[in-house]
Amino acid sequence: MADTSLLKFVDRDQAYPAKREPEIRAEDFREIADRYAMPDAEDQAGRCSQCGVPYCSVHCPLHNHIPDWLRLTAEGRLREAYELSNATSTMPEICGRICPQDRLCEGNCVIEFSGHGAVTIGAVEKFITDTAWEEGWVEPLVPGAARGQSVAVIGAGPAGLSAAEYLRVNGYDVHIYDRYDRAGGLLTYGIPGFKLEKPVVMRRVERLKAGGIVFHESFEVGRDASMDELRQRHDAVLIATGVYRARAIKAPGVEADGVVDALAFLTASNRKGFGDAVPAFDDGSLNAAGKHVVVIGGGDTAMDCVRTAVRQGAASVKCLYRRDRANMPGSQREVTNAEEEGVEFVWLSAPESFVGGETVTGVKASAMRLGAPDASGRRAPEIDPAGGFDIPADLVIKALGFDAEDLPTLFGARELGVTRWGTVLVDNKTLMTSLDGVFAAGDIVRGASLVVWAIRDGRDVAASMHKYLKAKASAGRKAA
Ligand SMILES: Cc1cc2nc3c(=O)[nH]c(=O)nc-3n(C[C@H](O)[C@H](O)[C@H](O)COP(=O)(O)OP(=O)(O)OC[C@H]3O[C@@H](n4cnc5c(N)ncnc54)[C@H](O)[C@@H]3O)c2cc1C
Ligand code: SF4
Repeated sequence: MADTSLLKFVDRDQAYPAKREPEIRAEDFREIADRYAMPDAEDQAGRCSQCGVPYCSVHCPLHNHIPDWLRLTAEGRLREAYELSNATSTMPEICGRICPQDRLCEGNCVIEFSGHGAVTIGAVEKFITDTAWEEGWVEPLVPGAARGQSVAVIGAGPAGLSAAEYLRVNGYDVHIYDRYDRAGGLLTYGIPGFKLEKPVVMRRVERLKAGGIVFHESFEVGRDASMDELRQRHDAVLIATGVYRARAIKAPGVEADGVVDALAFLTASNRKGFGDAVPAFDDGSLNAAGKHVVVIGGGDTAMDCVRTAVRQGAASVKCLYRRDRANMPGSQREVTNAEEEGVEFVWLSAPESFVGGETVTGVKASAMRLGAPDASGRRAPEIDPAGGFDIPADLVIKALGFDAEDLPTLFGARELGVTRWGTVLVDNKTLMTSLDGVFAAGDIVRGASLVVWAIRDGRDVAASMHKYLKAKASAGRKAA
């Protein structure tokens, strides 16, 4: 029987769900930790200090009612905890798995500041909603009374899916167009299964389909329809296409066989997990098995690549990053996971050239050092003339991040306003682009960001589109 009292952070230690042993987990693509068993979730939720001003909630992009659902969990009122957590998020069990909690809710937990270790908010959030799915508490999506207006959503990632859900609840006919053959965006094809198992994503998509949202898969806007055509077919359009233009490395030899893009590598791996035929994986080009792998980059994508390569059976995996550990953008939690699984980090190093001619056989690396802080406040890396070294490699994965594609050209919509980085410009209040009735949300507005921000943007843009569509309907009625 769980002790349902709260404020137990002094005498009850922080305990995340146990991770599987590195050698075992590196054998498969399952998540690395099981979820809490009862009564562990209740016990951990009971560590919450129930602050008057909950900084966890303030720093959660969705402003989830965290202390309230922690209290309900501690009291064993799981169904109510689920309902409250579900009230502010379309995918709580996904955020519980993959939010960088150390930078968001948990990183701002008062107990963390007092040295007792944050409440394990993400793990409890995952536990609550996974339990809800199992117990049948997750309600079907019930569409609101039909309004006779339709909306096109371009992109079935977390931003598009969240907006679609809220719009459907408000009674709109919602059509989602995605160039992939499965919905989910980076949840499906970018993020590996060891962080987010795919059935978790697919059950969300199935729920939306069952609620009457129409999915047009393998439909690329720009190829299968222009922006103009979509605007004629629908009363409003949402651009939620994410950012997919991989940042290039300018170094001699980068065109060699065996130097590949991170997303191609991760997508191939995720497709294999679905059981798809992937010729570029089957012929070895995108398969790390038996290879000496070098991943270039220090963000979350690089971390996903190194850990995928380990699971594919690479002979060795090294990660080259031009700054040091303290100055890397990726999550420290992921670095620890990767190190446990046998990845070697080569800090303060950058590729100078790729050697081997037609097929890569190694990386010539420059040693780097940290100079003065740059505009972002981080110390800028510069070449250290004292050193340089060679690393043998037969697969090099470029993971330097992503920029926006050229949407005005791709969509045949020259009037679509974009920033100098190619992200879509929106009015801060209405989230509408320079085209009337065309809105935008998620990474295509923010630049590469986080799932939880995409969900938040989806929620905000749905509210703004609802307002716009109501005004449009009312103007139509007056004119009739
Ligand atoms: C490898 C990797 C790992 C990550 N790990 C994490 C993590 O652990 N935690 C976290 O919070 N965030 C993570 N992120 C970031 C997160 O995945 C993104 O911020 C988030 O998915 C953005 O959501 P979105 O809906 O804006 O775009 P996306 O998820 O990119 O979805 C966009 C969709 O639009 C579709 N699309 C694009 N162009 C067209 C077109 N012309 N026509 C039709 N469809 C189109 C795409 O096919 C895609 O399905 C990771 C990103 C990557 C690349
Ligand atoms: S959505 Fe993310 S930031 Fe918000 S409570 Fe959940 S894990 Fe924390």
